[in-house]
Amino acid sequence: MSQIIAIIGGGAAGMMAAATICEQKADLENRILLFERNLKIGHKVMISGGGRCNVTTGIHDPKEALKRYPRGAKFLRTAFHAFPPDQVMEWFENHHVALKTEKDLRVFPKSDNGEDIVNVFHEIFRKHHVEIHYRTTIAEVHKQDDQFVLTTSEGQTILADKIILTTGGQAYRHTGSQGDGYRFAESLGHTVTELAPSLNSFMVSEQWLKELSGTSFQKVRLKIIRDKKYEFTGPILFTHQGITGPAVFALSGLAAYEPVSKDQPATLSIDFHPDQTYEQLTNELNHTIKTEPQKQLIVTIGKLLTKSLARTIFELHDINPEKKQGETAKKELNKLIESLKNTQITLIGKGAGSEFITAGGINLAEVNPSTMESRLCPGLYFGGEILNIDGFTGGFNLQAAWATGRLIGKSIGNTKY
Ligand SMILES: Cc1cc2nc3c(=O)[nH]c(=O)nc-3n(C[C@H](O)[C@H](O)[C@H](O)COP(=O)(O)OP(=O)(O)OC[C@H]3O[C@@H](n4cnc5c(N)ncnc54)[C@H](O)[C@@H]3O)c2cc1C
Repeated sequence: MSQIIAIIGGGAAGMMAAATICEQKADLENRILLFERNLKIGHKVMISGGGRCNVTTGIHDPKEALKRYPRGAKFLRTAFHAFPPDQVMEWFENHHVALKTEKDLRVFPKSDNGEDIVNVFHEIFRKHHVEIHYRTTIAEVHKQDDQFVLTTSEGQTILADKIILTTGGQAYRHTGSQGDGYRFAESLGHTVTELAPSLNSFMVSEQWLKELSGTSFQKVRLKIIRDKKYEFTGPILFTHQGITGPAVFALSGLAAYEPVSKDQPATLSIDFHPDQTYEQLTNELNHTIKTEPQKQLIVTIGKLLTKSLARTIFELHDINPEKKQGETAKKELNKLIESLKNTQITLIGKGAGSEFITAGGINLAEVNPSTMESRLCPGLYFGGEILNIDGFTGGFNLQAAWATGRLIGKSIGNTKY
C-alpha cells in the first residue's frame, strides 16, 4: 500500500534519508515529501569546512573514527558500520563528485565547492520525483490514530504515514536549524537531553594573548580542570578575542556542559611542549645555556615558543630580554619552563553564537540504533544532529548525519542493512 513519508528538514541527514529511499526503489510505492524552511536544501553542508564542505573523515577504521564523538559513539555504531567514511566517499564518487583527503584527514570535494555535494541530491530528487516543499516551515506535529498530522506555519495540514525528523540542532540558527525538532519530538512523547553549544572558541581575559592575535601552534596540550579533567592535544590559534583552533574545538566538545562565563571563569592550562617532560626540557635548556653562554636567552626561548610569545613571557615575568643565557638565574629559568609547560589562561566565555554544533538532543535510549525508528512512537525516525550525538571537527558531524540518514532510508526501504 502506498505510504506518505514526510521528511522535516533538508540538511545532510534528511537529504541522505530521502536519497536512500529513492535508491531502495521505495519511492515507487511511496510518496516522499521533503519540507525545508529555506529556499534551498543543504545550507549547512555548503558552509561546512569554510564553504569547501568537509564531507567526512579520511580515517578508514570506523572504530578509530568513532573515538571522535564525545557523546553517542556507542549508539552510532550500527549506522556507522553500515555506512562508514570509506563508503560515504565511495557513494559520492559514484555520484560523480571527485574527493580528496587532506593531510589532516579531512575529506573535501576536489572542486572545494560544497554545492557539488548538494547537487548530487538535486539530481536524485529530480529523477525520483521527490516533492520538495521549499520555504515551508513545519510548526507542529501530532499523531492522529496511525498517522501524523503536520501543520505548516501557514496553517496548512499534511497527513503522513511516516515522519523523519532531521531538523538539526540549534547552532547557526540563521541557517534554518532552530531547534524546532526538539519540540516536535517532545510533543510525540520523547525526551530531549540538556542542550549546550559545542565546537566553539573561547574568550579569554588576558590582554597579552589578544595582542598576539594570529599566532598559532601546531601541537599543544590543553587542559581544563574542574570536577573532571578535560584534555586535548592539537593545533590552536590566538585571536583578538581569545583562543580557537581544532584542539580548542575538541576541548569545548569534551567540556560542553561546563559553564564558562565572566562569573564562572575556567582556567585553561597550555603545555606548549607536550612531548617533553619538565625534566627533559630543563636538561635541554641547561645544556644550551652551558654550551652557548653568550647567546641571548630570548633567542633560545623564542625558538621554543615563537618570538612574539617569548617576548611577552619575558615581559610578564619581568626578565630582561637582553640577558645572556649564561647569566640566567635558576628562578628565572624555572619561571620560563613553567610558561612552556603550563601557561594558565582565564576563559571567560564561549565564542557567542559561533559554535558549530549543539551537544545534547533526542534521548538515545528512546531510539532503535538499528533502524533509527522511535521506540516510543512507531513510524517516527530521527537522523543527524537532532540526536544526542556530537563529534569533533574534521567531518565527523556530517559523517554522523550521512550514516544515520542512510540507515533511516534503508529501514524504510525495508532492505537488508
Ligand atoms: C559553520 C559550520 C561549519 C561546520 N563545519 C563542519 C565540518 O567541517 N564538518 C562536519 O562534519 N560538520 C560541520 N558542521 C556541522 C554539520 O554541518 C552539521 O552537524 C550537519 O550539517 C547536521 O546535519 P543535519 O541534517 O542533522 O541538520 P542541518 O544540516 O542543520 O539541517 C536541518 C535542516 O532542517 C531545516 N529545518 C529545521 N526546522 C525546520 C522546520 N520546522 N520546518 C522545515 N525545515 C526545518 C533547516 O532549515 C535545515 O536546513 C559545521 C556546522 C557549522 C554551523
